[in-house]
Amino acid sequence: MTGNRSGHIRLNSHPGATAPSRFKLHWGAPTAEERGPIVATVNAGTDRNAIGAHGGSYSLYRALAVSAGAMNPIARPDLTNTHPVVEIGPFPQWSEPGRIVSLDPWGHMVPQAFRKELAEGIDIRPSIAVTKARLTVPELKGRLKVDGKIVREEGDIAAVKIAIDPVWYLPGIAERFGVAETKLRRTLFEQTGGMYPELVTRPDLSVFLPPIGNTTIYLFGDVSKLGQERTFISGRLHDECNGSDVFGSDICTCRPYLVHGIEEAAHDAQKGGIGFIVYNRKEGRALGEVTKFLVYNARKRQDGGDQAATYFERTECVAGVQDARFQQLMPDVMHWLGVRRIDRFMSMSNMKHDALVEAGIAIGERVPIPADLIPEDASVEMEAKKAAGYFTPGAAPTAEDLKKTVGRKIEEF
Ligand SMILES: [Zn+2]
Repeated sequence: MTGNRSGHIRLNSHPGATAPSRFKLHWGAPTAEERGPIVATVNAGTDRNAIGAHGGSYSLYRALAVSAGAMNPIARPDLTNTHPVVEIGPFPQWSEPGRIVSLDPWGHMVPQAFRKELAEGIDIRPSIAVTKARLTVPELKGRLKVDGKIVREEGDIAAVKIAIDPVWYLPGIAERFGVAETKLRRTLFEQTGGMYPELVTRPDLSVFLPPIGNTTIYLFGDVSKLGQERTFISGRLHDECNGSDVFGSDICTCRPYLVHGIEEAAHDAQKGGIGFIVYNRKEGRALGEVTKFLVYNARKRQDGGDQAATYFERTECVAGVQDARFQQLMPDVMHWLGVRRIDRFMSMSNMKHDALVEAGIAIGERVPIPADLIPEDASVEMEAKKAAGYFTPGAAPTAEDLKKTVGRKIEEF
């Protein structure tokens, strides 16, 4: 291990400049032992076999804590009693070629799987945590039948709650996006302002912990039935929308659809299935909230008002792209859960549907958001998305319909 001498900065390491890590990774191997531990702690010295740092975007806050003298940079976590409250996997998908490239399937098993290495003093950290929670959702009070198990006495919903930090296997990510790995590495390096030189200087390191938001899963029902062919699976994959999800802002359908997803997933769990909500931190179509609010202004102030007809165009004008969520990484989490079929899918997104089907996950019934849950100002978004290919049991709106769907004026807020 290298020390933490201040004043000595190693900007980056070149292959051959130092001995390669003694922990060689074999991504997709059938056991944790054969795959090997991901060593990404910044003080692990030559044991490091990954680029980036733990904690995603929060690694920057850790840097601030260290800078402020509030945190010892070589502090090691005491992992006593932190292990998962329920078992998840291993499932065959964890080692099926190309199925999982954006998370570490063994990330929650670190204390057990790498006991020997941890005892030797190697600083290996979990990238997944599995706990339990009860959800109090005001809209659902009285809407779900109390069963004392999944829906508790107060109407609260019992859930297994899982947090997953992104861990990217770069050759697999490049393949998903159909680009050469060297090009992907170079672009990641350049577009983060040169933040991770090892992306270009260490082609021998294949794993990258990117500074992006994480994924949270909520599971309802008996999770020991995951991975069994006959288990009924129902749920929603939701991309973050802080304005609606948390604050109830009415320009979109995000919270109403999320709550509807929770209700249906919990209801299906009560019938013996497993319900899931997957929540991805991809605010504003992964363009960020500042871009999103700029787009709102551009939409509301354009000639003719906020029309469904120009919904996507306005986003592209401001952001340079209509959507940056790129759903092709999203199915990984379903593979991790051992899911091969979603029986009921509370989503109208054609992009999510197509990404799942392309990844080999069958989809049964598609459940649209009930019309009475769509806020009036959100009809602009909903009609525009239907016209662009969103699932709808009725006919998609025509160009003429889109021109007629106009939202609230900026002066009316
Ligand atoms: Zn929204």
